[in-house]
Amino acid sequence: MNTRLYKLSIVAFVVATVLFSSGYGSNNQSNENKNNSINGLKKSKKEWKACLSPEEYQILREKGTEMAFTGKYYKHQEQGVYKCSGCGTELFSSETKYDSGSGWPSFWKPIANDKVSSKTDMSLSMVRTEILCSGCGGHLGHVFNDGPKPTGMRYCVNSVSLEFEARNPKFSKQGEQKENE
Ligand SMILES: [Zn+2]
Repeated sequence: MNTRLYKLSIVAFVVATVLFSSGYGSNNQSNENKNNSINGLKKSKKEWKACLSPEEYQILREKGTEMAFTGKYYKHQEQGVYKCSGCGTELFSSETKYDSGSGWPSFWKPIANDKVSSKTDMSLSMVRTEILCSGCGGHLGHVFNDGPKPTGMRYCVNSVSLEFEARNPKFSKQGEQKENE
């Protein structure tokens, strides 16, 4: 009788341990999932490959450069907003776009300074300043100090890194002015 009780209590202990540890494990997992969804834009290579075209992946994530005069936006003149093709963050306005003659879409300033971050780039035996989307860290292009007034800057961006959305800037400008009055 006593040995049977002893065996039963061992079984109960083992079952309790297994239940406890599996419950603990699944809690850990759900916390990890939560953290991943909070940093939704910190995707793995695999996740980026799944949601970008091969060309977008090569330029945005591997810091590639499209051939000059081949991109869809270098001659583009419609009024609107250029967003990041990786995450949709609004990066540049058509109001600051100009023809730099470089063959890439060029802007003299970003839509807001905190939308575009910069980083020293020492590749190709040159010192350049790389520009990246602040939303997802995607590579946009480079910024140079040979741009027009008033900033004197040239944000030279790959068309592939951008997604254009047509908008009427006059309308939004009037709206802003009215709000400020
Ligand atoms: Zn982005």
